Amino acid sequence: MSQTFGFQFDNSYSQLPEPLFSLCDPQPVADPSLVLFNHLLAEELGLDGKALAEKPDWFSGNGAIPGSTPLAQAYAGHQFGRLTMLGDGRAILLGEHLNKDGQRLDIQLKGAGRTPFSRGGDGRAALGPMLREYVISEAMHALGIPTTRSLAVTATGEPVYREQGLPGAILTRVAASHVRVGTFQYAAAQQDPALMDTLIKYTLRRHYPEQADSDNPALALLDAVMARQIELVTHWMRVGFIHGVLNTDNVTLSGESIDYGPCAFMDGYDIDTVFSSIDHQGRYAFGNQASITQWNLGRFAETLLTHIDEDVDRAVEIATERLKAYSELWDESWLAMMRNKLGLTGCEPEDETLAKDLLSLMQLHKADYTNTFRGLIGGASLHGQPYDNDAFAAWHSRWLERLDRSPQGREHAWELMRSSNPAVIPRNHQVDKALRAAEEGDLSVIESLLAALANPYDERDSADPYGQPPGDDEVVCATFCG
Ligand code: AMP
Ligand code: MG
Ligand code: MG
Repeated sequence: MSQTFGFQFDNSYSQLPEPLFSLCDPQPVADPSLVLFNHLLAEELGLDGKALAEKPDWFSGNGAIPGSTPLAQAYAGHQFGRLTMLGDGRAILLGEHLNKDGQRLDIQLKGAGRTPFSRGGDGRAALGPMLREYVISEAMHALGIPTTRSLAVTATGEPVYREQGLPGAILTRVAASHVRVGTFQYAAAQQDPALMDTLIKYTLRRHYPEQADSDNPALALLDAVMARQIELVTHWMRVGFIHGVLNTDNVTLSGESIDYGPCAFMDGYDIDTVFSSIDHQGRYAFGNQASITQWNLGRFAETLLTHIDEDVDRAVEIATERLKAYSELWDESWLAMMRNKLGLTGCEPEDETLAKDLLSLMQLHKADYTNTFRGLIGGASLHGQPYDNDAFAAWHSRWLERLDRSPQGREHAWELMRSSNPAVIPRNHQVDKALRAAEEGDLSVIESLLAALANPYDERDSADPYGQPPGDDEVVCATFCG
């Protein structure tokens, strides 16, 4: 262990068996300079942010942070349904920092150069997408959603070549860990029971210590991960977030959202919304996220079978039962979330229909997801194009009647709605504008966007630009990785 400007590394992942990673240093860059530094996060981590904001070398790989053990993690992944051997092709784990509360957090540089897993890639990242990940991950955190965090974006002073030359950058990502479903798929492919056993126990100790001594660790892990994934995807559905690439290598065992590539928040409600320019089938559309997560958990369960029961038929039976239970657990979780969005307390059999009827009306008119729910607070009727019709008025009366049958009155309902429905989300057109300005050297737009996103549930002035959906000429249809 060592301590430097508060960094205190204790690198447990590097102690795992070698096939799970490859030791690998970041490749130095020409001229590193910090573009964004997250002082609040630094403080949470117990770091000396003021001093670190002057050390771009540490956030670019030009200087090693004392105590770090740089490595690239090995993993596999079902990418759009096809199993592929992957690994960190452009990310380097520096190690695990222990914060003041003894919390263990991965510190990773994304875009830090080629690794043994880079395949044909350059190991680098462009400034726009790294700023995008910073904005979205910090917005997710402020929304109360488990997520990887962003400590810094460092410009490299070098170009990266995509379809054109772009400024290069490195993101410093902070995560509960980077252990993914794909990590288990990679371990399973090694066909080494001892390796799988080590990984199961490591993951339980790190993320579910209360289950570490379970009689059946593999099954305990499957159940725990399933519960966290349901919780996570329920949050996404609550705020209108579309991950965009729910490949198994982008599903963490900690239950944090990870990999903000072609992700986006939905403006007008449409369950078929897809942003990723490479998702032609709509596999990862907004409304598919719960079922694709169940599918991903099925792939996870497969890696655990021989550890769930020696008798593989029996193991398949047990795992299948667990995956079937997912559907019921999902429905309960989703309905509880919708009740909160609608301010409903108590349970009535008609609640599900009430929620789904509103969503159908919203779907029909592509009503703004965020502003419709936020607009319902207070109970006054909504006006304007999607709401001025009999169907909506009838729904509104039914909802108010149901509210008045809630055991806790209307004031409580508005409070519940205010904390379940954000007023501000990172809308694509605003994120886009902020990134374009930043790429041209003007950071003021991204800074004011970040400030608005920091308190997403606060009441805002009705003219506040961050609360407005895009104008017809501002709509952004596709987002890209890179
Ligand atoms: P993603 O689609 O972001 O989840 O990435 C899928 C895989 O491609 C991961 O193994 C990444 O490390 C790898 N990858 C993405 N971009 C690059 C790049 N520029 N160079 C090398 N590997 C990359
Ligand atoms: Mg990924
Ligand atoms: Mg990605």
